[in-house]
Amino acid sequence: MIKAQIPEIKRLLSSPKNIVIIPHKNPDGDAMGSSLGLYQFLDIFQHHTKVIAPNDYPDFLKWLPNEEKVLKFDMQTEECLKSIEKADVIFTLDFNALQRAGHQLKEVLEKSNAIKFMIDHHQQPDDYAQYMYSDVHMSSTSEMVYNLIEMLGYTNKIDAVIATCLYAGIMTDTGSFRFPSTTSTTHRVIADLIEKGADNSEIHNSVYDTNSYARLQLLGRAMQNLKIIPEYKTAYISLSQDELNAFDFKKGDTEGFVNYALSLEGVIFAAIFIENQQESIIKISFRSKGSFSVNEFAREHFNGGGHINAAGGRSTTDLKSTIDKFISILPHYKTELSQK
Ligand code: 5GP
Ligand code: MN
Repeated sequence: MIKAQIPEIKRLLSSPKNIVIIPHKNPDGDAMGSSLGLYQFLDIFQHHTKVIAPNDYPDFLKWLPNEEKVLKFDMQTEECLKSIEKADVIFTLDFNALQRAGHQLKEVLEKSNAIKFMIDHHQQPDDYAQYMYSDVHMSSTSEMVYNLIEMLGYTNKIDAVIATCLYAGIMTDTGSFRFPSTTSTTHRVIADLIEKGADNSEIHNSVYDTNSYARLQLLGRAMQNLKIIPEYKTAYISLSQDELNAFDFKKGDTEGFVNYALSLEGVIFAAIFIENQQESIIKISFRSKGSFSVNEFAREHFNGGGHINAAGGRSTTDLKSTIDKFISILPHYKTELSQK
């Protein structure tokens, strides 16, 4: 655990360093919020910090403070490689294994001699970081960045920018403070972030009320494609590449769709299958209620992972065979999927 290492970390960060912060590939609100919150914190201490996202992220995150300074590894590879080469310290945020940064970045990170930090709340973390703050009970990596700042004794340094980023990260990863990982402590952290200048109502607005018409039409199609398998309390959605194209799909447009499947009364297991022709994969999101572990399910069958109630995975076969495989597996989980 990191607590015993705090004096050492304080010493390490007591003089300006070259620092790189890396969120996971296809960064979500928590990955970007925690990265940009930490970025601003380190900036206050005069460190030379760069946030390097493995690839682009949805437009609904493009209002986050300092977002315009984020480098994208797949687009600005040379510049990113230079920063990583120079780095004394690398923070990896919101992921538990280097491959979650993407294939190429993984190799670069493995070769780097920089001191590595992991701050993450996913299950079964790999052991690549000298400073590892991993806690699967945490609501979000953004809450953990707050905790790190608190352990360092610097909550007085949290300004409106840090507060805004961390609020956005906690909000998105807790489904607006409703998932079981949301604790009274999470709410205390949130209260403090509001006091420090996070404009809560505005942040909700920026993330959730900026839909395009095309996205809502795509949601309509997804809902038409929703299927229920009552005997396994399971529901799933599929979207083919043709359907995505027909509704002018943009990154992030399908975010949250799977939750509609989980919102059906009596359903405890939900999935969405989304065809990605460019990567020749079917990207899958899994969600559950109660003790059914979608992390285990995704790891075992779909080359993925995540948390107990939210995980992701992929398949390299076509959409229909991926769904057929999914349906054929369900009987193996009859007991788990018959819980109340
Ligand atoms: P989402 O379904 O929203 O993409 O992801 C749900 C959760 O599972 C997130 O915490 C995400 O980081 C994790 N996750 C998504 N896809 C993968 C994957 O392919 N591998 C692993 N290990 N985790 C994933
Ligand atoms: Mn997260």
